[in-house]
Amino acid sequence: MVKTARILNGSDVAQKALTALSKRIEALRVEGKTLGLAAVQVGDSKDALLYSRSLEKLLTKLHIYYRYAQFPEKISENDLEREIEGLNKDKQITGVMIFSPLPKHLDYVAVLNAVQLFKDVEGRRILHGFGDRVISPTASAVIKLFEETGIDAAGKEAVVVGHSDVVGKPVAILLLDKMATVTVCHIKTHSLEEHVRRADILIAAAGKPNLIKGKWIKPGAVIIDVGENVLNGKLVGDVEFEEAKNRAGFITPVPGGVGPLTNVMLVKNLLTLAQIQENNGNSNTH
Ligand code: NAD
Repeated sequence: MVKTARILNGSDVAQKALTALSKRIEALRVEGKTLGLAAVQVGDSKDALLYSRSLEKLLTKLHIYYRYAQFPEKISENDLEREIEGLNKDKQITGVMIFSPLPKHLDYVAVLNAVQLFKDVEGRRILHGFGDRVISPTASAVIKLFEETGIDAAGKEAVVVGHSDVVGKPVAILLLDKMATVTVCHIKTHSLEEHVRRADILIAAAGKPNLIKGKWIKPGAVIIDVGENVLNGKLVGDVEFEEAKNRAGFITPVPGGVGPLTNVMLVKNLLTLAQIQENNGNSNTH
């Protein structure tokens, strides 16, 4: 007998979720609080307009204020950012979303960063630490070391071992932004060796001494070893350095690789934070 897949019905799940949300929205309305959404569209797009209409239909039903903020295709980045600042300050607007793609003359990350963090309804800004926010100093150090190789990550197999908030996850996102094909391995990963053997770029951040065997390394690979482990009174990484260095194209030592650069990136982040705080009138600098 042919076994067919169970159909996952989105409409049913949506209806259940909506019923629960409606109660919360109604409770807010009783307290005199309303929600509002602004959707920013640059230029004409039939698809965006269709989507906007379906969104408006749903929000209207829920008594949520909706504004389709459409701007001319040729709007300058400064003008668009000023318009977004207006939405940031607008008390009727709880959340702002930016319809993409944006025209080529606009810098996507800069426009995104114009949306105030607490109005970023799609949670996009969290993926773009650069700009007026900071990202894990260790992840920045890893990427800076990778950039030293002069290698283009686009299309390369990148394997990140470790998925912590401070190393694995942000490094994976930054490598994705460089158009690498990224695999993230962790404690539950089956056959780590298989993944590592495919890696043109390997970021080791598991905190397990010599977890990555030298013989697993693909010839010519870039190896960035974030691990810092004390073994027999000595600081060692996650990669078997002596064996790996004879196969890799580039490799960072432990100590003396990612560690020292991490601290420099930390200082850079402090400077960025001071600047953000000054811009927001919350400065502690004298
Ligand atoms: P963590 O403990 O938060 O995360 C470890 C990650 O490794 C997890 O995702 C876990 O699932 C994975 N992992 C553990 N054992 C594994 C195994 N056997 N196979 C596959 N995956 C495995 O650690 P962290 O804070 O991300 O730190 C990782 C290492 O990097 C540590 O050695 C730490 O000291 C070092 N570190 C160095 C710097 C630096 O600047 N050089 C900065 C931060 C962390």
